This record gives sequence, structure tokens and C-alpha cells, in this order.
Amino acid sequence: MTEQLTLETTQAAAQPTPQYDVVVIGAGVAGIYQIKRLADLGFRAVVLEAADDLGGTWYMNRYPGARFDSESYTYGYSFSKEVLDEWHWKERFSGQPENLRYLDFVAGKYGLRRHMRFNCRVEQLRFDEADATWTLTLAGGEQLTTRFVVSALGLLSIPTPPKIPGIERFGGQAFHTFHWPKEPVPLAGKRVGVIGTGATGIQVIAEIADKVGELKVFQRRPNWSAPLHNGPISEDEMAEIRARYDEIFATCARTPGAFEHEPDRRGFYNVSREERVRLWDELYDRPGFAIWLRNFAEIFMDEEANAEFSEYIANRIRQRVHDPEVAEKLIPKDHGFGVQRVPMETNYFEVYNRDNVELVDISETPIQEITPDGIRTTTRDFDLDIIVFATGFDAITGAYDRIDIRGVAGVTLRDRWRDGPKTYLGMLVHGFPNLVMVAGPQSASASTNYPRGIESGVDWVTGLLEYARAHGYARLEATLAAEADWTEHVKQMYSRVLMRKAKSWFTGYNSNVEGHGEGTTRYFVYNGGAPKYVNTITDIASRGYEGIEFAAERA
Ligand code: NAP
Repeated sequence: MTEQLTLETTQAAAQPTPQYDVVVIGAGVAGIYQIKRLADLGFRAVVLEAADDLGGTWYMNRYPGARFDSESYTYGYSFSKEVLDEWHWKERFSGQPENLRYLDFVAGKYGLRRHMRFNCRVEQLRFDEADATWTLTLAGGEQLTTRFVVSALGLLSIPTPPKIPGIERFGGQAFHTFHWPKEPVPLAGKRVGVIGTGATGIQVIAEIADKVGELKVFQRRPNWSAPLHNGPISEDEMAEIRARYDEIFATCARTPGAFEHEPDRRGFYNVSREERVRLWDELYDRPGFAIWLRNFAEIFMDEEANAEFSEYIANRIRQRVHDPEVAEKLIPKDHGFGVQRVPMETNYFEVYNRDNVELVDISETPIQEITPDGIRTTTRDFDLDIIVFATGFDAITGAYDRIDIRGVAGVTLRDRWRDGPKTYLGMLVHGFPNLVMVAGPQSASASTNYPRGIESGVDWVTGLLEYARAHGYARLEATLAAEADWTEHVKQMYSRVLMRKAKSWFTGYNSNVEGHGEGTTRYFVYNGGAPKYVNTITDIASRGYEGIEFAAERA
């Protein structure tokens, strides 16, 4: 924090030359690597971060149980041999405090804080066509000018608490998991309610069940989930991982999900039922996303294959939950395994065998209101001391919608994307020149191991900015045709996967966000896998950034 640069407030309007070559918005995993690249190349660049420190998702999500679902050593940055050599991941799936320490370590090692300003919430971006410059207005009124803006806003950075009548009248503590307080929350003996059973809810519920007095889980729809199999990484194991880093990242680069997990390519229907079950038994005991990503690809495209595997997982749940009625409530009936992002769990299902835990099925008995004392459903009052909203995020485009972004002719991005995002490669938008999104909507990052996607996105964006600088270009913009083609391509890929039918953030569903309810599918992510995506963007760069128009600054 001491390295943080203090910049004087400057009135931008009078300045003909922008103050910065590049302003990066967001100091999370993407923003940290982006500023490293830009600083190394001598760009006049700054990172603006709304929070009071760096870390993004790993700074905010402090709820108990928050940890990677990616193997730690495939999640970390690959760009620095020094960092790879020096950092010891202590757990196979590292927890939030350690993940934040890691990002702090990387930023500290390269002095990146001196390029960052915290408590800087960007409220408006306005493109000035006359001098191809963006003017940013921060909360508080300060203005900055920059030639380029790189947005590193995060895919899941706008939490969405539920809209329940009476929510403001609750007398105890209530917070969204994203805003879990920094100071310890005493849980011993407390009556706690958790609303939401996505990846976040499943982590927090499993972690706190044996630490609270009573736990009431308010479940609207259950999620398919399977064991994470976390464990410590010893010094010896870490040495072995370090020796394998090149191989690990090479594997991530060639697998669709950018993990070490490769799909089973034998073909679901080419092997016997016994062989399928043998594979599933093995995968159920393997760490991480193996159960999802080492499986047969047909499971994600073919209803019949999906139903057979879903039934296999349903039986695993039945074996783990003692009360058959509760077990049935925990088994999704409206979607098959893996068509939504699979939450990974540690003893989650066993939680429901505890005397102090109760599953409240709010699809049967909906929540009517929050009272000063707790939660009232259609049939019962639940007295609570703490309510935790694990109710998800205004995903992918939410962070863009929260900034008043005005491109050519004052058109707002919010309006342009009203019915869903339209992008070129998930990185550029026609009508919004000089704005580049790292891991934006319709990029591959969201649907793959996120930091692997971030690194390729940042490298591509950096190459684009270098190219513009080398050619003396002050303005770059995706053509309308290139944007339309990419958006159509992304849409077409949804038609191949069962995910298109899911009510999840991958299709833009969120009942707490207006206009994002059922029947409003948004084509949010690129589903073609990491290698295809990286090949495509690399090819486009090698052909002089096809689909992008460049121009020198106007006289
Ligand atoms: P989510 O997957 O969107 O789940 C939200 C949950 O809240 C769902 O169970 C939803 O029920 C419920 N809900 C929402 N609004 C509700 C309301 N008004 N009343 C009752 N229930 C409501 O959100 P999430 O669990 O935060 O996960 C989001 C994503 O974050 C994950 O998919 C994952 O990509 C990421 N994540 C990653 C990790 C990790 O890497 N380890 C951990 C946590 C999260 P319905 O299903 O009925 O809508």
C-alpha cells in the first residue's frame, strides 16, 4: 500500500494530450497481470480499483470455505519463472486468504502497487471522437484522460442480493457472501440462514455447519455437485509440481477447459455401460473438476448420455444423505449434471445428516418476507441471528452496466447490450473505439480455467496496444461486420451444448436482475474451448488484426 502512487487531481478537459496511454479498470487477477505487461513496455498506465486494495474476487469473497475449484498450481500465473519457483501452494485447492496473499506477493515482487490507485470507482467513460481519447469520471468528480481503456472488471463482481420484502427490517446481521465482513463473524451458537445453493452456497454451508448453533438452508433449486478432494501440498510435492510446470501449462493450453483434465475421447456409446461406470467411479474419487472435464463429451451435448450420468450422480447423493426425502430434494430434477457450472464440495451432502441443519425447500414453501426476527415462508417462521445471501451475481455484463460508458455519438454500452452483449472476440465492441476488454463477455475465459484465459487475453490486448503504438495509430475499433460474425459464432456454439437450456449465469439468468429472468437467453461465453479460442485470436493478430480498423489521430 505504501508504494501506492498519489496522483494530483487534474481537470482533464483542458488537456490536448491524454494523461495516460492506458487506464486499466480493476486490480484483480487480470488487472494485476495487465499492468505488469504495460509497465514493462513503458506505457504510461495506471490501474483504477474501486476497492481499497488489490485482489478483485479474492479480496472481496471472504466467506468461510471460499477456495479455488481449480488446482492451485493451474490457477496461478504462468508468466513469471521467479514466481513459479518461489511460491509454495499449501493446498491443492487453495483458500481465499492464501490466494489473496499470493496476489499480494506477485504485486509486491514487481512493485505493481505504484501503478495502482485504490478507492477509485469509475462512474463514467466518455469517448471524445475529435482526439480519440476517453475521459473517465470517478466517484467524487475527478476526471482523467487516456488514449486506451482496458477493462478488467471481473465476470462475477456485482453481487445480487434477493429482492425480498422486509429485507431492510431484519434485526440481526445480513450480508451477501461477496460482502462477508473482514472482521470475524462470531458463529458459535448462532442461528444462521443461508439462501442459495450455487458454488458459493455449497462452500459456505459445508464450512459453517459444524460451527454454528443451527443452520437453515433455503434452497430454491438444488445443484449437481461432487467432491473436491482437497488436501495439503508438501514441500516435496511442490518441488515435483515446480519441475512439471512447463508440462502442466502445456497441458492446460491444449485442453478445452484449460485444466490438466482432458476429456475421455473413447466415445460414450463406444464403450459398455460397465466401462462407463468404471470411469465414473474413478472420476468421483479424483480431485477437482475431473468428474466434469475428464468425462465423455456426449454428456454435455446428448440428453440421453446426460440423463444416464446424472442418475449415477443422483445415486451417489442418495448414498450420502441418510434421509431419503432430503436426498431427493437435493437432487436436481430440472437440469442434468454439468450443464450449469458444477460446484465442488467437501462433505456438503453429509451436512444434511447433522441434527443442527435443516433443508428448507422454498420451491415448495416460498419465502414471503424477512421479518425483524428472521425469515417467514408460506408455512413457517424461522428465527435467525444471521442471514447469508449466497444468491449470485449480475454476471458477465453486470459490471459494464454499472458504468455509464458512452462511445461514438454518445451511444451507451448499456443500450447497445440491452438484449445481450455483442462483441468482437469478447474483447472489442463496435462504436466503442479504444476500449479493450480483458476476458470480456463472449471470450473463452469465463467458460475455462479463468487465469489461463486471462493470461492469453492480456497478452493479446498488450500485443494490440503495442501494434497501435508501433504504427502510430491513435484509434482502433472493431468493424460492425466482424462484431456481428463473432456474436453469431458464439450464439451458434450454444446450440450444440445442453448448457443453452440451463437457468444459470452462463445464459444470463438471474431472477434478481430485471430483464434477466426466464426466457431471456444471453450468449455470454465462448463455448468452443480454450485452444480454439487462442488459435483464433492469435491468427487474427498475425493477419494484422483483421476485423479492426486503425486510424491515426485526427489533425
Ligand atoms: P449462483 O451459481 O448464481 O447461485 C445462486 C444461488 O442462489 C442459486 O442456488 C439460486 O437459486 C439462489 N438464489 C438466487 N436468488 C434467489 C432468490 N431470490 N431466492 C432464493 N434463492 C435464490 O451464484 P454463486 O453460488 O455465487 O456462484 C456463481 C459463480 O461463482 C459460480 O458458478 C462459479 O463460477 C463462481 N464461484 C467459484 C468458486 C470457486 O472457484 N471456487 C466458488 C464460488 C463461486 P436458483 O438456482 O433457483 O436460481
